[in-house]
Amino acid sequence: MSPLHQAALSAVQAGFESRFNHAPAGIWSAPGRVNLIGEHTDYNGGFVLPFAIDRRTVVALSTRTDRTVRVASSFGGEAVEMSLDELFPENFAGWSAYPLGVAWALGQFGADLTAMPGFEAYIDSDVPIGAGLSSSAAIESAVALALNDVWGLGLDRATLAKVGQLAENRAVGAPTGIMDQSASLLGQADSAVFLDCRSLEAEVIELGFDPAGLELLIIDTKVSHDHATGGYAARRTSCETGARLLGVPSLREVHVDDLPRAADVLDDETFRRVRHIVTENQRVLDTVRALRVLGPGTIGPLLDASHLSMRDDFEISVPQLDLAVTTARGAGAIGARMTGGGFGGSAIALVPRDLIPAVAVAVQAAFALDGYATPDTFVVRAAGGAAREA
Ligand code: ADP
Ligand code: MG
Repeated sequence: MSPLHQAALSAVQAGFESRFNHAPAGIWSAPGRVNLIGEHTDYNGGFVLPFAIDRRTVVALSTRTDRTVRVASSFGGEAVEMSLDELFPENFAGWSAYPLGVAWALGQFGADLTAMPGFEAYIDSDVPIGAGLSSSAAIESAVALALNDVWGLGLDRATLAKVGQLAENRAVGAPTGIMDQSASLLGQADSAVFLDCRSLEAEVIELGFDPAGLELLIIDTKVSHDHATGGYAARRTSCETGARLLGVPSLREVHVDDLPRAADVLDDETFRRVRHIVTENQRVLDTVRALRVLGPGTIGPLLDASHLSMRDDFEISVPQLDLAVTTARGAGAIGARMTGGGFGGSAIALVPRDLIPAVAVAVQAAFALDGYATPDTFVVRAAGGAAREA
């Protein structure tokens, strides 16, 4: 069964037809994701536990008879047009770098772009932009799956995730890891994707939120982040420096027991960056074990500890995220943390279903009292990954 509602399919179909004056060859979709736990561990070869959410980006697409590529989005503006012969990262700008970057990146993973037909694509989405729910991976994964089909490439989903990551890294210039695309492409309903970012082995872990009477509340602070600049890249560099000074290929090789030695070798700031990664990896493993053995009602303290580690050791939180977390906990959430790359975006709170309205109201009130912009609060459920819809 399609994870998409008929109305969403009709809307993207109509949007495509009004731009390009013919019906699309097919419709594909891919979800955003939320990371339950495991932050900044992906590019350190560590563990992450995201899940695909019930918010999706949908692409209607057709090949052309010539080499022209045209991409348009429901977000408005003219269709962006380019020849397949000009498809290089230095020619991309703005939002179209995502879909065009994916087409280019497929060429880096074996597609012979000199032999492929051009295409037209129209993109619609209900994944919030810049909220830390990875609208970027959703658009990349939807376009990657669509082009993989119409160009007959036969790439598997793990490879398509790498295609999306390469597009984001090289075409957009955001040095992000493989987590977002993996969640978007490999997610399954009611489950998280436990990903080992060193081996790229992925395992589907049942969440069991529904039978436990729990919901995951997103609190979008509306503080916008930008992964292409600033803090995110600086944290990556700190991690690389820490690994080099400790003589390991990546911080994945450092265990909690090694931290006393690391404290001797590293300056205070680098040590705290390293300690976040090392303890966060352990928290992901502990969360997976707790979900398997004890159920989701026991993971709250791990979410809380993750937030403190990001706030104090990795220093990627902002006052609005801290306020969202403490207020949600005070109003009955069993655990809460900021999620995503940091410096803005969203917090998550694991909340007994009956308390969702109370937690949402408490967070809105606390933000109003402190003079912050009104946050968005909404529940997300774990949904299936990227799919062909029509
Ligand atoms: P996040 O992934 O947290 O939502 P990013 O900054 O990584 O935020 O990615 C958001 C960017 O991705 C947008 O600014 C836009 O350029 C692009 N994008 C995502 N979804 C769409 C869409 N449906 N249509 C056009 N561009 C999109
Ligand atoms: Mg993103």
